[in-house]
Amino acid sequence: MDLTTPPPAEDHTAEVLNDLRQQLSGPLLEPHDPGYDEARRVWNGMQDLRPRAIARAGSIADIDPVLAAARSTGLVLAVRGGGHNIAGHGSVEGGLVLDLGGLRRVTVDAEALLVTAEPGATLADIDQATAAHGLAVPVGVISQTGIAGLTLGGGVGWLTRSNGLTLDNLASADVVTATGEHLHAGPEENGELFWGLRGGGGNFGVVASFTFRARRLPGPVLGANLFYRPEHWKEGLQRFAAWATDLPEDMNPILSFLVFPPEFGLGAAPWMIIGCAWANADHQPGLELIGRLRDAAPPDQDEVGPVSWPEWQSAMDGLFPKGSRGYWKNASFSRLDDEVIDVVIGFASKVAWQGTGIDIHLLGGAFASVPEQATAYPSRASRYLLNIYGFWPSPEDDARLTEFARAAHGRMQPFAEQGEYLNFLGSEERPDVQAARLTYGPDKYGRLLSLKQRYDPDNLFSRNHNIVPSRLPDA
Ligand code: FAD
Repeated sequence: MDLTTPPPAEDHTAEVLNDLRQQLSGPLLEPHDPGYDEARRVWNGMQDLRPRAIARAGSIADIDPVLAAARSTGLVLAVRGGGHNIAGHGSVEGGLVLDLGGLRRVTVDAEALLVTAEPGATLADIDQATAAHGLAVPVGVISQTGIAGLTLGGGVGWLTRSNGLTLDNLASADVVTATGEHLHAGPEENGELFWGLRGGGGNFGVVASFTFRARRLPGPVLGANLFYRPEHWKEGLQRFAAWATDLPEDMNPILSFLVFPPEFGLGAAPWMIIGCAWANADHQPGLELIGRLRDAAPPDQDEVGPVSWPEWQSAMDGLFPKGSRGYWKNASFSRLDDEVIDVVIGFASKVAWQGTGIDIHLLGGAFASVPEQATAYPSRASRYLLNIYGFWPSPEDDARLTEFARAAHGRMQPFAEQGEYLNFLGSEERPDVQAARLTYGPDKYGRLLSLKQRYDPDNLFSRNHNIVPSRLPDA
């Protein structure tokens, strides 16, 4: 037998996967296995991918053998937490998926104000565990989203002005690197890796555990939703822009343009909703502020009152079912004058139920107080983040609604500033390395590239907004 002849690649892959199946505490699912079709689904139904195998981790110890199998076979690896990535990075055609979604334990140290989450935890898991102690970690707004991808990319939501992004509240993380090294990353240990994890996505390793600083959030928050019909949008936006100039950090507004499903009884026309979370146990100042906005721009209908944190956090869940087809774009900007308002209204008036929605997050506050170079997150300078989120059920609408998001994004370009939010980006046919450079800017991109070369020079972690090591093609 000629020992110098390598075995055929497929034989080797099959052998490695058979071995992997024996080593894992969770199941390994291949296309012939029951449950494979369910396991390959991610939130974005447009990402209808068929991996060669899906390793459903039954414990953190399963991470090591999966990374070893990916290295040995050369199968492209996808790491999945909550599976909500818009670009479908939680799966991969023909590759190997490390699905951490079964590992959802969250522990709360109420005295130290620290919350530790396994990498498959959802935002609901975190909110429920923390609310029981009168605490909260700032996370996103749809509670089935995974904490892992959300944190590594950013994490904007109802506490962004009060407490910054989710990644600003990351205290430390346990990471398994491409070579299988287990590292603790925090301000005092592996600080540069810790910097890169906060905004550099899944480029540097698998995070096995996240520890967050929690804030106190006792009792209900004050929530407000002011609803405006299209004929009142312009005045509502003008008044909102004036009202928002000197808000306290505890006031967290997100504007949405949405058409509601028929069961809401809100008609077929789009609404503008100014949503606000007042994150302070004393509701009176929040009520006065919301009253000022209501007087300046009287809504067509509204709801204002105390609401439990987990309830507020999951209020919109039903609008975004798993399997929706999704393509998203976003833009950061700072002007909300008449010219920008007209552009926004121009495309927002075309949103449709099960089609598209548009959010405008007011930034500033604690988000803007974090020094620009403190984390890898692309940019803190802008006042607003606009998210155009397509979600629709039928493949027939793919081209039309993808084009809608692109066109709306194009209309915002004259006002856009550096700092696209990578977690709000859909899949592009050709991932653009230039775009990553532009998003991060040359300084941050250079730092991220050095980290990538140090921790993942062979690009084992490539299913993400990829920092391509410079010696590989496409860099
Ligand atoms: P996954 O698809 O599981 O993972 C995404 C990527 O993250 C992976 O490909 C990998 O690169 C990386 N990754 C995942 N787990 C790990 C790990 N353990 N270690 C290393 N890398 C890992 N974002 C906001 O900021 N605020 C919101 O309010 C918000 N709302 C959303 C609502 C919906 C309906 C959807 C679909 C998305 C929303 N997002 C929001 C965007 C969200 O932040 C991203 O989609 C994010 O990628 C989701 O993380 P995930 O773990 O669910 O995704």
